[in-house]
Amino acid sequence: MTLPLTVGEIAAVVDGSTVGDPAVVVSAPAVLDGRQARPGGLFVAFVGDRVDGHDYSDQAGRAGAVAVLGSRPTALPTVVVADTEAALQRLAAHVVGRLRGGLTVAALTGSQGKTSTKDLLAAVLSGSAPTTATIGSLNNELGVPLTMLRADASTRYLVLELGARRVGDIAHLTDLVAPDVGVVLNVGQAHLGGFGSRAAIARAKGELVQGLAPRGTAVLNADDPRVIAMRALTDGAVLTFGRADHADVRIADLVLDRLGRPSFRLSADGTSVPVTLPLVGAHQAHNAAAAAAAGLAVGVPLVEAAAALSTATVSKWRLELRDLGGGVTLLNDSFNSNPDSARAAVDALATLDGRRRIAVLGEMLELGADSDTEHRAVGAYAAARADLVVTVGNSRPIADGAGPQAVRLADNAAAIDWLRRTVTAGDVVLIKASREAHLEEVAAALEQDH
Ligand code: ATP
Ligand code: MG
Repeated sequence: MTLPLTVGEIAAVVDGSTVGDPAVVVSAPAVLDGRQARPGGLFVAFVGDRVDGHDYSDQAGRAGAVAVLGSRPTALPTVVVADTEAALQRLAAHVVGRLRGGLTVAALTGSQGKTSTKDLLAAVLSGSAPTTATIGSLNNELGVPLTMLRADASTRYLVLELGARRVGDIAHLTDLVAPDVGVVLNVGQAHLGGFGSRAAIARAKGELVQGLAPRGTAVLNADDPRVIAMRALTDGAVLTFGRADHADVRIADLVLDRLGRPSFRLSADGTSVPVTLPLVGAHQAHNAAAAAAAGLAVGVPLVEAAAALSTATVSKWRLELRDLGGGVTLLNDSFNSNPDSARAAVDALATLDGRRRIAVLGEMLELGADSDTEHRAVGAYAAARADLVVTVGNSRPIADGAGPQAVRLADNAAAIDWLRRTVTAGDVVLIKASREAHLEEVAAALEQDH
C-alpha cells in the first residue's frame, strides 16, 4: 500500500471509528484471507453467508496484520465501518489518488482475453518501469481495490483488469480511479445471463471509455464493430488495434506454428516489427496487439513492446500447452469457458498436429436463457473440428450438439478414468469448462499419468 497510513488516518479516510490504538501504522497491502496477511498489513473482514471474516483476525494477526477494517471490533486495532466494501473502495481511491502524480493507470475490459491481455500489457510496461498489475483475475468490486492498494510510491504503471457482471459495474470501478488508458477487447457473450443482451454488454464495456481520465486514451478493437463504435463515447484520443487495414496497430502475416503459437508482424506509424508469442492460439495475437497499442499510448515504442511480448507468459490454465511425453499433448484451458472462448480453444486444438484431437468439454455457466442453444452450438462446432468430443458433468446439450459420436462422462472421476484408458501416443487433448467444473483436476491427472 502506498502507505504508511495510521489506523486513525484510515478511519478518517473511510469515515469509520477506531477501536484500539489509532497510532498503529499500516505499511503493507490489504488482504481478505487471514493466511495471506503480511507483516504490517491490513486485514479486511467481511461477513459472508457462511463465514465471518472477523473470526479470522487472530489468524491474520499471527501472519503479521497489524490492523483490521471491518464492521465490528476485533482483538487488533480496528477501523469499524457500516459498509466494509465501500470503505475498502474509498481507501483504495484515496491511496491511488495520492500516488496519481507519478502513476499511469491502464485498465482493460472485454468479454474474453482480459487476463491474457493484462499479463501481456504488464510484460510490455514492466520492461520500462515498475509495474503493479492485477493478480490472476481479481477484477471485481473487491479485487480492483485490493490491486490498487498494492501500488506504492515506486509504482509507475498500474494495470487493472476490470470485470463486469451487470451494467454500472465498470462505471463504479472507474469512479475509484479514472484510467489514463482504457482497453476494450471485445463484446462477446460472457455473463450474458446477468446482462440480458449483447447491447447491454456493449453498454457495460463502454463505461470504461466514458470513465477515462480527461486526457485519457481509449484503445479499441478495430475488428469488433461493437467496440469500435465506442469511439463515439469519448472526445479524447483513440488508438485502434486488430487485423483491419485501418487499425492503428495492425496485425499482419499471422501464421501459427505446429504447436499453434502465433507469429505475425505488428505495424504502427510506419514501423513494422516481427513478434512470435510463446502462447497458443490466434486470439493471442489480438491480445498482444491490444497490449502493444496500450503500450504505445503511454510511450513504450513498438520495438520494445514486441521484444517484451516475445518472452511473455500468461496466467496458468489458459490454453496452456504441454508436451506430456510419450507423444501426448495437453492443451489445458480449464480456467474458464464461455461460447466464444470455447470456439477459440477448439480452433487452437484444430491447428495442432496429432493423430487424434480430443476435445474434453464441460459446462459453461451463466448463459441464462440461451444456455442450451449455446452449449449445443459449441458441441457442433467442436464435432466439426475435433476427432472426438468428450463431455463432462452436466453438459448434455454439448453432447447433443456434437452428435452420436460424443462420449458422455458423468463427472471428473469418470473423465480421468476414460482418459487413462483412451489416450495414447499422438493424441492432443483439449480440456475446457467453466471455473466451477474444476476440470484442472482432470488435466492434472492426465499430466501425472504421462
Ligand atoms: P475471465 O472473465 O474469466 O476473467 P478473461 O476475460 O480474463 O476471463 P482470459 O482468462 O484471458 O479471459 O481468457 C479466457 C478464455 O478466453 C481463454 O480460455 C481463451 O481461450 C479465450 N480468449 C482469450 N483471448 C481471447 C480473444 N481475444 N478472443 C476470443 N477468445 C479469447
Ligand atoms: Mg480474467
